[in-house]
Amino acid sequence: MSRGRLIVISGASGVGKGTVLARMMEKRKDLSFSVSATTRPPRPNEVDGVHYYFISRERFEQMIARGEFLEYDNHAANYYGTPRAQAEEKMKSGHVLLDIEPNGAKAVKEAAPEAVLVFIMPPSMEELERRLRGRGDTSEEQIQMRMTRAIWEMEQRSWYDYVVVNDDADRCAEEILNIIDKEN
Ligand code: 5GP
Repeated sequence: MSRGRLIVISGASGVGKGTVLARMMEKRKDLSFSVSATTRPPRPNEVDGVHYYFISRERFEQMIARGEFLEYDNHAANYYGTPRAQAEEKMKSGHVLLDIEPNGAKAVKEAAPEAVLVFIMPPSMEELERRLRGRGDTSEEQIQMRMTRAIWEMEQRSWYDYVVVNDDADRCAEEILNIIDKEN
């Protein structure tokens, strides 16, 4: 049976990963997205079961106890995790894209060494801050927390397999698709 691979895409919050991932999936119908579970509340326009599974802290901790996550992390005061069964099911029909941060990426690489790790950089820190503020749903305290975290995340890029810059979502999506083709 031919199995797809896990393609991990990381990058600071606000770097535009969501748009890049959407473009990749528009261009390649055989790619699927691993829908994470999280305890953070949905943003406007986010749909349960599409962008995330929005679940309670209690439910999340139950899933941890049952070993139902391929990986999970607790950051920005919330839990985020990759449901194991879903990723395995989706890998039966092609490559699976994971939008996860560096702690999760490291755990995936340890569990599945054949996973491909891609880190997306913003064109500049100024642009990243501008994009974060542009979302309008984030408090000043959260913006500062996310910027501090962004700096730490960017330092982690050295151990990723590939680093790309999101100067243009379409171009960046093409670059990652080329990486996936090259790896297979
Ligand atoms: P946001 O709250 O902006 O949607 O996501 C915040 C961060 O959580 C992003 O860096 C995103 O990649 C990461 N993230 C989303 N889902 C998961 C997951 O399932 N596991 C881990 N480790 N990180 C995740």
